[in-house]
Amino acid sequence: MFDWLKTKRRERALASHSIPDDEWTSALHELPFLDHYDDTALARLRELTTPFLVEKNIVTGAEDGAHALEVTPHMRVLIAVQACLLILGRGDTVMAAMRDFEGWDNVVVHPGDFPRSYDYEDEAGVVHQLDEPIAGESWYNGPVLLSWPAVEAGYDETGMALVIHEFAHKIDMLDGEVDGLPPLAGAARKVFAEAQQAAYDDFCRRVDADEDTAIDPYAAEHIDEFFAVSCEVFFAEPELLREEYPAYYEQLQSWFRVDPIAGRLIAG
Ligand SMILES: [Zn+2]
Repeated sequence: MFDWLKTKRRERALASHSIPDDEWTSALHELPFLDHYDDTALARLRELTTPFLVEKNIVTGAEDGAHALEVTPHMRVLIAVQACLLILGRGDTVMAAMRDFEGWDNVVVHPGDFPRSYDYEDEAGVVHQLDEPIAGESWYNGPVLLSWPAVEAGYDETGMALVIHEFAHKIDMLDGEVDGLPPLAGAARKVFAEAQQAAYDDFCRRVDADEDTAIDPYAAEHIDEFFAVSCEVFFAEPELLREEYPAYYEQLQSWFRVDPIAGRLIAG
């Protein structure tokens, strides 16, 4: 019954809030890594983007003051499209795909990097409070925080697809653990984890050896960051990830059910 109601509500939302053509086209223009996606995949992406915009609040983190930021419809679409890339091939229906984004409501957009405060205990057991400026953060069962300049700069300029990165953390958290693994069970989990670990070990070794890696060395911080960064590369520069770590690339492709090189959905 609950699902039926939700379906009805979504159908109404889709009908009354569909994204205007010019908004949609201009968002795609800013995302060159979607240039080659076929019509089926793009139609699906648009279908997902609409309920995302209806159900999630994309709000400003700075309402007033010198650095006030207004979140425009264009900004909302640009964020929603990239978030929905992560669920593009998931589930047979829009509703099933949107289940990957359940349990939280808000995306907060900041006018620049924002401080993350956390406690840090040193070797002598003294606790320090650190304030570290960051471009994005994803909270377990909570909001996704984004710095707008970092979103706007785009992958071509920065080698960073911040929206994909932060929403990849949401995918990682789906099974209740922050371990770099999307929800998977049994043999599939084992195969994914082995391919990922082999790639991660190799990457950390290269970063430790001061090798100039094509993938952002930040990915060596922790396995969950490796997952988030590799999702950015998977969608924004897929040839690179396939070249570097083909077995891991295959695992991501079968989980996302998207072939980002061909720009199409994978059936089944
Ligand atoms: Zn991260």
